Amino acid sequence: MTELTTPAQLNGQDGHLALKRPAISFEFFPPKTEEMERSLWETINRLAPLEPKFVSVTYGAGGSTRERTHATIARILKETALQPAAHLTCVGASRGEIDEIVDRYHEVGVRHIVALRGDPPGGIGTPYFTHKDGYQSTAELVAGIKKRHADIEISVSAYPEKHPEARDFDADIDTLKAKVDAGATRAITQVFFDNDLYFRYLDRVRASGIAIPIVPGIMPMHHFRQARNFVTRAGTTVPDWFAQRFEGLDDDAETRKLVAASVAAGQVHKLAKHGVDTFHFYTMNRADLVFAICHLLGIRGKHVQKAA
Ligand code: FAD
Repeated sequence: MTELTTPAQLNGQDGHLALKRPAISFEFFPPKTEEMERSLWETINRLAPLEPKFVSVTYGAGGSTRERTHATIARILKETALQPAAHLTCVGASRGEIDEIVDRYHEVGVRHIVALRGDPPGGIGTPYFTHKDGYQSTAELVAGIKKRHADIEISVSAYPEKHPEARDFDADIDTLKAKVDAGATRAITQVFFDNDLYFRYLDRVRASGIAIPIVPGIMPMHHFRQARNFVTRAGTTVPDWFAQRFEGLDDDAETRKLVAASVAAGQVHKLAKHGVDTFHFYTMNRADLVFAICHLLGIRGKHVQKAA
């Protein structure tokens, strides 16, 4: 959130969003198969005309998608006018290896990295061990990237419900502060469904003197049941009222899709009403719901794309 816009500026008298166009970004994961690659590119081509500020590509747990993340980023740079942001974690790699990845990205023209610690190699909930020659924390990684390439913009994570490993909110916010002090200029939040949690978190963050944008991460829940398990393990609360919206729809993909779009659009609309003007969408490599939500936010495509 770069600057707070008042609800009056954002909303017309009828309560609908007025013209101020929110800034958006999209997150993708690197495809595993040719079919997934085709589907990702359909998604990218559908969403690109919405002119996101950037599109980010995740880095599989433990660096498992290193080459696929790089290939996806390289193709985005080559075939589109989009600004890619490459996710990168500290897990299971020495500083030298990470530095090499960063240099390679810089060489092909990447100027934005989403820097993360990463989950423990044993999975969420198991102890995290740093690599003995590796970056020991995300803040160290951020500083390491900045030292090599001052022109790389760095985004980091933020946790409105605190990271599950954090002792308490103060410790979590201290970590965010260290990342900002090291050079991060934007934080993207873990997915959340209760907007109050985001606003309370924002209050804590601002009270600690952190001024960078804390961009809400929005996830339309296409496959509610699977997605609930996944987000819950990462520390996100799924409120009962939210789960009730999807009750009885496990075998009804069409209705689930409409409900998922409507619920996420409602969340985004309420955030916008309270002055939030930037959103990061976890697309899960699907365009339909995110496109619809952006449309409801007043975002229209420009229908211009760089030729392949
Ligand atoms: P940090 O922000 O560095 O730390 C998070 C919290 O954990 C802090 O409170 C910190 O104090 C505490 N902490 C850190 N280390 C320890 C420790 N050793 N002991 C106790 N507490 C500790 N994961 C991927 O693998 N690939 C991705 O592409 C990816 N993208 C993400 C994008 C976003 C926007 C978000 C929110 C998360 C993403 N993740 C990704 C998940 C992330 O790697 C995990 O949540 C990971 O567990 C923490 O990494 P971090 O950079 O958020 O940690």
